[in-house]
Amino acid sequence: MKSRNLIYLSSVFYLFAAHISATGEKIDNSVQAQSMLAVLYAQSSAEYEANNLQTFAGAKLALEKALVNKNWTAAIEQKEDFSEKPPAVILDIDETVLNNIPFQARAIIKGESYPNGWVEWMLEEASTSVAGVYEFLKYADSKGIKIFYVTNRIAIAEEATRNNLKKLGLPFDTDRDVLLMKNENGWTSDKVSRRELIAQDYRILLLIGDQLGDFISLDEATSGMYSRKEVAAKYEEMWGKKWFIITNPIYGRWEASIYNNEYPDTESELMQMRLKALKP
Ligand SMILES: [Mg+2]
Repeated sequence: MKSRNLIYLSSVFYLFAAHISATGEKIDNSVQAQSMLAVLYAQSSAEYEANNLQTFAGAKLALEKALVNKNWTAAIEQKEDFSEKPPAVILDIDETVLNNIPFQARAIIKGESYPNGWVEWMLEEASTSVAGVYEFLKYADSKGIKIFYVTNRIAIAEEATRNNLKKLGLPFDTDRDVLLMKNENGWTSDKVSRRELIAQDYRILLLIGDQLGDFISLDEATSGMYSRKEVAAKYEEMWGKKWFIITNPIYGRWEASIYNNEYPDTESELMQMRLKALKP
C-alpha cells in the first residue's frame, strides 16, 4: 500500500514538474531576465566577437614588444631581478579564455542564479573559447612563452577545466602547475599571491582578464560603485599596453558594487538597488 502511494505521489509530482517546465508559468525569472540583453550581446553580437578579436590582436603586438624589452613586466607584484627570468603571460579563465554564456542563458530560462548549476556546467567541459584567444596563445606558445591560467574556479573543477582547455587545443604545459585554482594551496579569490608565485620564476609580460581583480588586488578591485572608475583611471598607463581586458557586461565585481559590495537578502531589494543606481 505504502509503495502504491509513493508511486501515485511521484507521478503527481512528475506531472506537476512537467507542467511547470512545459508552460513556464511557475518559473519566476524576473531577476535573471534583467541580464537578457547582456547575455544576447555576448552570445550573438558580431560586435562582441570583434571586440575580443581586437583585444587579442593588441595583446599580440604588445607581446612582441614585451619579449625583447627585458625591463618590461606587467605585474605590480614583480619588483626586482626579473630581467633574466623566462617570459610568461597570465590569463584569467572565465570570460577571458573560456566562454560560459550558455550557462548564463540557462540561468535566465530556468530562473536560477549563480552558483546554482555552475559546478555542473564546469563539469560538462563544454565551454567554447573566447574569440581570438586561440591564435594569441598559439603565438605565445610558439615564442616559448609560458602560459599560466589563474582562475577563481574552485579546485574540484580542476580536471574538468584542464580537459576543457585541452579539447579546445589551447596550450597547456605539464612540467609545472600552470592552472592555478581558487582553494588550491590556500589560495583565496585574491589573485595577488598567485601572481607573486609566478613572478618568482618568470618575467610576466602581460595580464589578460575580464575583472579588475585579474590585474590588481581584490581589495582595490572591491571599491565603491563610483570609485571603481577612479581605480581604472589610476592604471591608465597599463590598459592596452600591458593589461588587456575583455568586456563582461553580465557579471562581476562591477555588479556587486551596485549593492555596496554586499548582495541584499531579497530579489526585490536587489532590483530596487539596480533601479536606484541608474543615473538619468
Ligand atoms: Mg573571468
